[in-house]
Amino acid sequence: MQENIKLSKYTSFRIGGPASFFVDAKTDDDFLSALKFSKEKNFPFLVLGGGTNMLISDKGFPGVVIRSQGRNLSFEDQGEKGLIISDTGNVLPIINQFANQNGLVGFEKLATVPGTLGGAIYNNAHWKDDLLSNHVQWVDVIDPTTEDISVKRLDIKDLDFKYDSSLIKTKNLIALRAAILLPKGDVSESKQTYTEYLKTRTESQPYGTLNSGCMFQNVTENLGPGNHGTSAGYLIDQAGLKGLKIGGAQISEKHGNFFINTGDATSDDILKLAETCKQKVKEKFGVELEFEVKIV
Ligand SMILES: Cc1cc2nc3c(=O)[nH]c(=O)nc-3n(C[C@H](O)[C@H](O)[C@H](O)COP(=O)(O)OP(=O)(O)OC[C@H]3O[C@@H](n4cnc5c(N)ncnc54)[C@H](O)[C@@H]3O)c2cc1C
Repeated sequence: MQENIKLSKYTSFRIGGPASFFVDAKTDDDFLSALKFSKEKNFPFLVLGGGTNMLISDKGFPGVVIRSQGRNLSFEDQGEKGLIISDTGNVLPIINQFANQNGLVGFEKLATVPGTLGGAIYNNAHWKDDLLSNHVQWVDVIDPTTEDISVKRLDIKDLDFKYDSSLIKTKNLIALRAAILLPKGDVSESKQTYTEYLKTRTESQPYGTLNSGCMFQNVTENLGPGNHGTSAGYLIDQAGLKGLKIGGAQISEKHGNFFINTGDATSDDILKLAETCKQKVKEKFGVELEFEVKIV
């Protein structure tokens, strides 16, 4: 257990003050003992994956940050399909690579989403028409609210996956590992498709900047032409906000739903920019934008 660890280097925004306590958790026991410590001392806890979907206050986190670092990966052959069992500290491209090594395909879209499997489960990561919940079979979790904190296996039907949500998120569970079912297929085609998807991303998103992906969730009602109208990025663009800057925070010129730390942004700069966005979009379209990024 380390103390007073600056969190900015663990987030893709490169923003975040110190954690009072910080643990790299590689095994189930590491997670369990960090949780026991936080319970005994009555400190809040926060699970950190790759930090690609978080805005952490410059004041930091007054509790125990548990960084998910389990890296185990295994494969079970199931005939036409295969099961990848992965710790939640693995990032999605590594899982995709391992799937390909075992003759499995179909994870190419999700493999372009930055961050760990844990973060992807929490928010049911999605890109284009694919969702993580299309592949997950079960997840091993810890429920920190129970008296005897222990590891339990939850089946897909109990995980309550929805757009940008899961039981892990709504019940504040900790995900330790998950099983991902994929079909066998043409691995060289899978690799080529993955490379093409990565290229599409770099063309449409502010690649190479300090950002945290989409700041807001898409909305449920279609408010624009074609199928663009549910996109928060489209609404921000139509409200004339692309490129707007407050302090060191800026809305990307390339993608309206990406907020960028131009170098010296504070968490307050990002939040002020987000508030302005919410107000202007509400005035123009009458909808309330909800954060996709976790605000800590
Ligand atoms: C350039 C860029 C592009 C992006 N594009 C997409 C996209 O196309 N689709 C998409 O869905 N997202 C996208 N994102 C957002 C982000 O990559 C995903 O939400 C990702 O799944 C977050 O994973 P993470 O490990 O970084 O989570 P973190 O940011 O570390 O955490 C996010 C949340 O998950 C929780 N969490 C993390 N691990 C665990 C665990 N083991 N158990 C319980 N809770 C946990 C955290 O407590 C936190 O609440 C993008 C981000 C960036 C920077």
